[in-house]
Amino acid sequence: MPLLGKRASLLVPGVGCVNGCNFCSTSHFFSKRYTAFLSTGKELFETAREIADRRGTDSFFVMDENFLKDRQRALDLISEMEKHRRFFRFHIFSSAEAILAFGLDNMLRLGVTLVWIGFESQSRQSAFAKNIGVDSKALVEGLRARGISVLGSGILCMEHHTPDNMQADIDFLVDLETDFVQFMLLTPMPVTGLYRKLQRRNLLREDLSYQEWHGQKKLAFRHPAFTDEEAEAWLNRAFRQDYEHNSSSMLRLIDTSFRGYEHLQGLKKRDACLEKRKQQFATQTRTYALILRSIARNAVNDRERSLALDLDQRIRRCFPRRLSEHLAATAAVLLTDLWKLRLKLRGDQIQPKTIVTRYKAERNFLARQGAIREGNSDQTIKSDSIRPAAAAVTISE
Ligand code: SF4
Repeated sequence: MPLLGKRASLLVPGVGCVNGCNFCSTSHFFSKRYTAFLSTGKELFETAREIADRRGTDSFFVMDENFLKDRQRALDLISEMEKHRRFFRFHIFSSAEAILAFGLDNMLRLGVTLVWIGFESQSRQSAFAKNIGVDSKALVEGLRARGISVLGSGILCMEHHTPDNMQADIDFLVDLETDFVQFMLLTPMPVTGLYRKLQRRNLLREDLSYQEWHGQKKLAFRHPAFTDEEAEAWLNRAFRQDYEHNSSSMLRLIDTSFRGYEHLQGLKKRDACLEKRKQQFATQTRTYALILRSIARNAVNDRERSLALDLDQRIRRCFPRRLSEHLAATAAVLLTDLWKLRLKLRGDQIQPKTIVTRYKAERNFLARQGAIREGNSDQTIKSDSIRPAAAAVTISE
């Protein structure tokens, strides 16, 4: 169904991560160093304010591998927001140890609405420094209790995994009860330490084209314990287990948002920042809750159905519905029914419109290669800027 309101803007404060997990391509690509584009809280604030004013939305998706690793910069960003009384909201990536060092209450003040955390695996053999000594379950509970949604990611078919021990890691991820979960096959992307190690051992799947190196179907290295078909079956089972055990992610997201509101409402004292955060949770919860009836009608099982109906009642007791919200909730039910019909008739494949971006450099390259023939060069390039996204451009060369 169509989303209400404007989409979040994108903020790119820097690239790279110093943690250097052996499978991590961004960390290795930037030589396990962090390069800041916006190195102070003030710079971050000014950039966010400029984008927010231009786009008319205060919400940001932060493309930074480990945003809270620079603790002081994030704390300074809170100070700037408080100073200017402008309270942005952020979706971020951060590792568990950086989150704990920053503090969960600080994340609430910062306006983090979603954090992506790599829990990877609970097995001792694969312990990453970022997760050692972390009580993952308590961390997720603490975040969700403050209204911060969590996307927890885990890796399947790691080197130590066998059919006998992998289920324990899946159970660990499912038991965390994060809002969203990502299971991904271990994939040795070029430039990583893992790639070099498996290359030395002659275990890389050179026969597999790079398009297939996405970790959601086939293994990009020869695993002693799993075939491609087995790896894919494990992935599907893991996602299904999480879905049936924890219900749909949208239900969890609404639940977390309401928890955040209740947490702040329950505080004896709220300064301007926390008051604003409370209002934001209230608005967000009211909006998200419009689809709870649709979730109940399309629940994966009875448990999800009763959770959705119960949450709907609790939210409506707290925020009595306006007429416009009643209408929107009914529209949501109709739209989901329409979508189900579409799935029945046309399947679940969604193909986005093709976007073709042409650059002068490409034309020059092709010209050097002798690939552009006289007479058709005009249809290749008008400028070196990106063309309108909606247009599908046919390549005739
Ligand atoms: S903490 Fe995350 S971003 Fe940093 S190296 Fe590890 S996987 Fe990569």
